[in-house]
This record gives sequence, structure tokens and C-alpha cells, in this order.
Amino acid sequence: MAHGSMTTRFIYNHSPWLFQTLIASYYGIYKSFQKFGDSYQRCFEHINKSQWFSAAQINELQLRELKNVIGYVYQNVPYYSELFKRLNLVPADFQSIDDLKKLPVLTKEDVRANFERLTPGNLSPKDVITEHTSGSTGKAMKFLLSKDCYQKEYAFLRLQRTWAGVEDDDRVATFGGHAVIKIDRHKPPFWINNYFEHQVLFSSYHMSERNLGFYAEKLIRFNPDLILGYPSSIYLMASYLSRRNITVVKPKAVITSSESLLDFQRKLIEQVFRTKVYSYYGNAERVSNISQCERGGLHIKPEYGIIEFLDENDEPVEEGEPGRMVCTGFLNDAMPLIRYDVGDIAIPIQSECACGRSGPLVKEIVGRTDDFIVTPNGEHIGRLSQVFKGIDAVEEAQFVQNEKERVIINVVKRADFSEHDSKAIIYNAKDRLGDDIGIELRFVPNIRRHANGKFKFVISNVAREI
Ligand SMILES: [Zn+2]
Repeated sequence: MAHGSMTTRFIYNHSPWLFQTLIASYYGIYKSFQKFGDSYQRCFEHINKSQWFSAAQINELQLRELKNVIGYVYQNVPYYSELFKRLNLVPADFQSIDDLKKLPVLTKEDVRANFERLTPGNLSPKDVITEHTSGSTGKAMKFLLSKDCYQKEYAFLRLQRTWAGVEDDDRVATFGGHAVIKIDRHKPPFWINNYFEHQVLFSSYHMSERNLGFYAEKLIRFNPDLILGYPSSIYLMASYLSRRNITVVKPKAVITSSESLLDFQRKLIEQVFRTKVYSYYGNAERVSNISQCERGGLHIKPEYGIIEFLDENDEPVEEGEPGRMVCTGFLNDAMPLIRYDVGDIAIPIQSECACGRSGPLVKEIVGRTDDFIVTPNGEHIGRLSQVFKGIDAVEEAQFVQNEKERVIINVVKRADFSEHDSKAIIYNAKDRLGDDIGIELRFVPNIRRHANGKFKFVISNVAREI
């Protein structure tokens, strides 16, 4: 219901559950027409073939797509026509992927400030969807998405599903951002059936200890082939099942998206569901995609866009070093973004995947650029999930930094949490963040989700000010 109007949402929220189920199924059919049209089919056929392209063919494909985008924005997008003029550039100046560097990096702030001028003049409103990012980094942002691009995104998700061994008609349990149930609902069901797409959409907003038993019952009854959604929500489910030794839910695969997948989450989810977790990376702006293959390789999808990995001076990082993902998308004619700093960090590697597919790989998707604590001497420290390595008695945790000299770690304890665990967390945190920063543990009953249901592992209001 993400794109529903306020009125639709009001009616939906105030309808009895059975009626909501009917709406969800109807909505599923409606969305299916939007998702699975001609562009979806054509795109899937294309990427299903091109996944086996050689490195030379991939390079050729990317260059062709890049030239298309450059020609398109030069012709149709005022922001770029002016920028090209100012820099004395014409489309013919882009003859290799490297020529992209002739253009500056585009920031979120640039998009906010130039929204109208970034909108192509040739657009028909009926082909366009207005999207809003969640604003989990502090500021919300709006941008345009073509309906064509929306369909193509689903072709990439389908390819990811085939890599995970999941078939089209398989049953899917989702734990994601759909606010499927009224937020103040206190009794089950905390889910909606979408019969048309063989889906059960579980609410990620109601996963308290008290409610998780109902979730477990439903999940066991539904017996999904695929579990899809936010890693933090799937982790909560897995953790509940693990503590009760429930091992009957055996999907073919778990696919996580929308948040960074932390090591301890992957470990427990794989253990409980006895299957592999595939990490699917995309962004709301639809500028890049990383899908994980059956051999574990994180493949940058070359048909989707180009990703550069840059340091703070906008220079390429060394292989194996974390870099800001600066993306040039190929799919979205409604608002093409070139060298767009999407706000995520990943580590590129030069290697070949055992699956035999060519093309660029990343070693790890590290997280959002603001998933960092800033130390008093200005260092940005990330990958903080390491602090909980080997500590099993923590249900969930979150770092909050409101001032430079102090970090609060909110911890949701499990029953077997001990003083020893407290000491270990503080010791590990000091080890990672240094001695100049105060660490305070706070025990909380749960960790509040964002408006979109997402879990944020690190909130640094200091990092945001820089
Ligand atoms: Zn691979």
C-alpha cells in the first residue's frame, strides 16, 4: 500500500481484517499489472541472458547504455543541458566509462535544490510515479520514477529469486515496510494474505515478544518457500523460533533487502531456517543493484547501472577499501541521475566469482554513510556489529550518539543476559571506539522502528552535523 493515497490508507486502516485481506489481494492483482507488464518480461529475458556475458560484452553493454543516458539527459533534462554547456561538453565527449569523471558528483542536496530542472521535459505524467525516500538519514527526499523502471526493478528481483532457487509460484512470506496493519492493533492477525501472489505480508511494526508467538504460528501454517524482507525483522522471527527450538519452517531461501545485513543476523537466520541468506541491494532512487549469487558472490548488476567507489575527495578507492557508492542509473527515464551519491558504502574487489558470471563484484556492503560513530578526534568508526560478536544473550541493540564524547548502546536483553555480557560489550566497544569516548549501556524493552518500519543500528547525530 506504499503508494496509496491518504484516503485509501484511511479506509484501509479502518476496515475489518477480512476486508483488508480482500483489498490486499485485489491490490496485489492491481500491483501485478503495474509490476509484471511488457517491460518486466522483456527486461527479465534480457538480463537472464546477459548474466552470462563475457567481460568484454559487459563493457560494451555498459558503454552503450551510458551513451544512451548521456544523449537523453543532454536532450531532455535542463539541469544537464546547462551543466554540459557550462563544462563545454557534448555527448560525443563520452566514449568510455572513464569519461564519466568529466561530470561532478551529484548529491542528495543537489537533487533537492534542482528537482524541477532535473525533471525531463518530454515526460508524460501518466508514465511517472512520484517516490519519497524514507528520510532515515534525517531529511526526506522526493524524486520521479518511470513506470517502466518500476517494472524492470521486479525483473531484477525475479533474477535474484532464481539465483536463490525460488520459483515464480512459490509461497512468499514478507517482513518489510508495508504498513499492512493498523499501528495500534493489539491482537492478531498481524499480517495480510495476498492470495493472488501467494504471499503473506507480515507487519514489521508489531513484532514484540508478546506477539511473536502468533507470528510463529502463522509462519508455520503458511510454510513459505521464500522469506523476504528486512534482515532485522527476519532476525527477530528467527531468534524467537531459535529460543523455542522450532525448526519446522524450512524455506528454500531467505532474501534480505533495504537494510545492511549484519553478520550475527545472517548467522542466526541461516541456522534457524537451515538455508542460505541472499543479500539483495537496491535503492529507492533505482540507480544501482547488487544481487547475490548461489556461490555467495555479490554481483553489481551491469545492466542496471554503473557504480564507482569513491573516497572523501571523490577519487576512486583502492580495491578492498570501503568507498562511497556513486551511481549512474540506466533504467529511470523519469529522473536519470548521473554520478549520484546514494549514501551507501561498499568494498569493491577485483576477483572472479566461482559461479562463472563476469562483471564487477563487491566484497561487502558496509552500510549507510551515516552508520558511523564519530570519535572526539574526528575518526568515523563503522562496522559496529563486531561489538556483539560472540554475545548471544542480546536480542537487539542500537548505537546512539548525541554528543562527541559519549555513546549510548541500547540493548534488548535475553533472559540469560549476565553481568559478564555487559562487561564484554563495553570492552568490545572501547576496543573499537577508543578510550576517549564514554560508553553507556541502557537496557530497553524494545527498539523503536522508523516510520517506514526500518531498524537503524547506528544513529549518530554528530555524524550528521559534519
Ligand atoms: Zn557469482
